[in-house]
Amino acid sequence: MESLEEPSKDATMEGVKIGLEIHVQLNTKAKLFCNCPNPAADAEPNTVICEVCTAQPGTKPLPPNEEAFRLALLAAHMLSCKLQPSTFFMRKHYFYPDLPSGYQRTSKPIGKDGKLADVGIWEIHVEEDPGRYELKKGLLDYNRSGVPLIEVVTAPEFKSLEQVKHFLLLFEKGLTYYGIKKEDGVIKADVNVSVAGGQRVEVKNVNSYENILAAIAYEIKRQKRLIEEGKTVEMETRHFDEAKGTTKRLRTKESEADYRYMPDPDLLEVPLEELAKATLKDELIERPWERAERFIEEYGIPKEAAEELTWEKASADLFEYMISDRDGSKKIEPRKAANWMRTTLKKQLNYRSISFSHIPISFKDVKEIATMFFSNEISDDGAETLLIKMLDERLKDARALAKKLNLFLMKEDELSNTVDKVIDEQRKAVGDYRQGEKRALAFLIGQIMQMTKGRADPKRAKELLEKRISGED
Ligand SMILES: [Zn+2]
Repeated sequence: MESLEEPSKDATMEGVKIGLEIHVQLNTKAKLFCNCPNPAADAEPNTVICEVCTAQPGTKPLPPNEEAFRLALLAAHMLSCKLQPSTFFMRKHYFYPDLPSGYQRTSKPIGKDGKLADVGIWEIHVEEDPGRYELKKGLLDYNRSGVPLIEVVTAPEFKSLEQVKHFLLLFEKGLTYYGIKKEDGVIKADVNVSVAGGQRVEVKNVNSYENILAAIAYEIKRQKRLIEEGKTVEMETRHFDEAKGTTKRLRTKESEADYRYMPDPDLLEVPLEELAKATLKDELIERPWERAERFIEEYGIPKEAAEELTWEKASADLFEYMISDRDGSKKIEPRKAANWMRTTLKKQLNYRSISFSHIPISFKDVKEIATMFFSNEISDDGAETLLIKMLDERLKDARALAKKLNLFLMKEDELSNTVDKVIDEQRKAVGDYRQGEKRALAFLIGQIMQMTKGRADPKRAKELLEKRISGED
């Protein structure tokens, strides 16, 4: 049935053009033009402000925050933009209570003509966030004033919702990989949608990936209906109602001239070339999706594993460390390493809400745990015990700790003797097993584990038991 629906889905998309202007709050320590910290999203209103970011008379901005430009340049690189040699700030004038200076500082493009997921990127620039104004209550919060943002403007080239979805997934991956987005920061987008026979409609301030997709879907439906009814779709700005999943008219669209753009005389030109050179270190040139491709080709790991391991730079780095012989350590087979990272390690990190970039144990120790497990020195449980202890107590030296916790499995001959002893002592259970009582084997393994105080590898114990018992037949 699904294949029958596909063509009609495509048909509804014919003549549809979608473009995005995405704003991302940057992961800097300070704001863009003052020394205020980049505030936590849940900070008390108006507690992270100063004279500059509230535009008190007589104050002037500090030179723009270099860290913000470093992150913006990484974003420009991730989007394959042509980097510009320099930029400067313009004042974009409008009157609204969230903007005490009466203008927003927004830079000329730092990168142009990029591409992501086959969609053109027109430009990327840096700007300051305005404050927050609650229209209904008339409440103002200036904490957000002056927080650095990038704005990414795509060409209106999206032809389907699926394409938008794919683009946003890669976009989020790149932001995460390069640590560009503020951790509790928000994504905000202005969404442009037009259908055949109608003008362009802009939906302002849509504030999550899900809502971007919902707003686009709603606009396509609404505009198509208007055209079908013989009405016109005029150029206008609309607001997305999150609760209802609909949009409503705000105003007819302003033209560029309404903002009275002018260069900000308080700020000097920002030279970008030097900063770009210092920022785009060799290890950052390879974009995460390129790195995933290389992992598949070079190491033969499955696509899904490669994509997951390249979400964070730290997890991709850890993976390549695990399979290398750097530090004189032994290589772990890539598929094994990938699998162990995605199961045993990921489970413990997720449980503690720790990302790979914030892992509190050294790469060396993480690898040591995996190595001891893969060489059968410790069991699966033993590896997990070590991880938990080291993560929770921020410990070092996995090997010494394994010894201290008595996690090393016993050697083969010692285990072999124990298996013989248990077979000798548990004649009844051995007999039951021979009669086809499967549970008897579990009991015998339990006896071995008890006798060895957990130092036996249960998998190996089972193999030896089966061999011995069948061999006695
Ligand atoms: Zn400030």
